[in-house]
Amino acid sequence: MRVTTARFVTAAAVPGGEPPPGPPEVAIAGRSNVGKSALINALTARRGLARTSGTPGRTRQLNFFLVNERLRLVDLPGYGFAVGSEEERRAWAPLVETYLRARPTLRGVLLVVDARRGVEAEEEELLAFLAAVGRPSAVVATKLDKLARGAATAALRGLRARLAPGVPLVGFSARSGEGRDAVWRVVLGWATGP
Ligand code: GDP
Repeated sequence: MRVTTARFVTAAAVPGGEPPPGPPEVAIAGRSNVGKSALINALTARRGLARTSGTPGRTRQLNFFLVNERLRLVDLPGYGFAVGSEEERRAWAPLVETYLRARPTLRGVLLVVDARRGVEAEEEELLAFLAAVGRPSAVVATKLDKLARGAATAALRGLRARLAPGVPLVGFSARSGEGRDAVWRVVLGWATGP
C-alpha cells in the first residue's frame, strides 16, 4: 500500500470526544509498550506519526490518524502492566468500550500482541468482547525480529491454534517491515469491504 498522505487528526479523551464519523476506521489495540505506535508508523511509513508511549497525554486517549484522505487508523489507549495500570484500566473501559461498541464507521480491530508472549487473559477477553459486539478482529504478532526463525514459526503456530478460525493472524516486525503488506491487506479488506 502506497501511503501518500498521513496525518494526526485529533484525540478523544472522553466518550463523545471522537471526531464526527467520516471515512472507515480501523482501530489498533494492545497492551502498553507492545508496539502499537511502531505499527502505525510502519504502516504509514511515517516515523514520527504515532508517538511512542513516552509521550505524555497521548497514551490515555483515542488518537485518530487519516491516511490517504480515505481511511482512519485509531490508536487505542494501552492496557495492562503499565505504570499506574489500575488507573489506566479504569479509564480504559468506558472510553474504549463505548468506541468499540457504538462507532458506526469502525470496520475492524487489529489486536497487537508481542510474538514472544502471544495471547494472554486480557487479549482473550478483548477478542471475546469484539466477537460479542460483532466487530471483525485480527491479531498482529509483533517484534517478530526478536525471535530466531524457528522460534518465530513455532510462536505463530501456537498463536494460530488459540485463535478462532475467522481471526486473521499476521507476523510482524516494525524493525524489518516484515508483515506490513499482509497487515495492509487485512485493513483494506475491512475498509473497502461490504
Ligand atoms: P505502544 O505503547 O504500544 O505504542 O508501543 P511502542 O510502539 O511505543 O513500542 C514500544 C517499544 O517497543 C519501543 O521501544 C519500540 O521501539 C519497540 N518496538 C516496537 N515494535 C517493535 C518491533 O517490531 N521490533 C522491535 N525490536 N522493537 C519494537
